[in-house]
Amino acid sequence: MPHMSESHALEPAQCFRLLRTVSVGRLAFTDHSLPVIHPVNFTVDGKDVIIRTSGGGKLAAAVNGLMVAFEADEVDTATHSGWSVVVLGHASLVRDIDRLVALAHPDTRPWVRGRSDHVISIKVERITGRRLCPL
Ligand SMILES: Cc1cc2nc3c(=O)[nH]c(=O)nc-3n(C[C@H](O)[C@H](O)[C@H](O)COP(=O)(O)OP(=O)(O)OC[C@H]3O[C@@H](n4cnc5c(N)ncnc54)[C@H](O)[C@@H]3O)c2cc1C
Repeated sequence: MPHMSESHALEPAQCFRLLRTVSVGRLAFTDHSLPVIHPVNFTVDGKDVIIRTSGGGKLAAAVNGLMVAFEADEVDTATHSGWSVVVLGHASLVRDIDRLVALAHPDTRPWVRGRSDHVISIKVERITGRRLCPL
């Protein structure tokens, strides 16, 4: 008999707390008018999601201040439970030297070699989450 689960909405404070517990999420952005989604390493700084990259569409989205979506989750396939959090906000390139220094710790470094030249900040303008709990 398959597990049944119930979905609950999460408060913004819970969403931020959960986001801080994982290190990989998915960045959805627009590249040459097409939707793109890439896995990325991230950290949370205050109410901003921080990503590092070396170039490509993610960097262009930040340079152009585009609206992006970001998703992170944790799932337990054995119990059919888990949570997901989705953020919407404008991306921007971090240029302030003091903030760059403050953000330059090992946790912000991508797992992918050579993908860390630029720091992108996503200002969280909307944050929503759901938790699936086994019945
Ligand atoms: C666990 C994990 C963590 C990562 N962390 C980071 C990070 O913190 N920073 C970072 O910059 N990159 C990270 N990457 C790599 C990232 O997902 C992209 O592959 C990479 O940034 C290349 O982006 P690009 O715009 O140069 O794509 P391009 O190489 O120019 O893309 C060429 C084509 O391949 C597709 N493509 C690119 N990447 C992927 C992908 N991952 N999956 C499926 N299709 C893809 C593109 O959509 C496009 O159609 C991570 C990848 C993984 C798996």
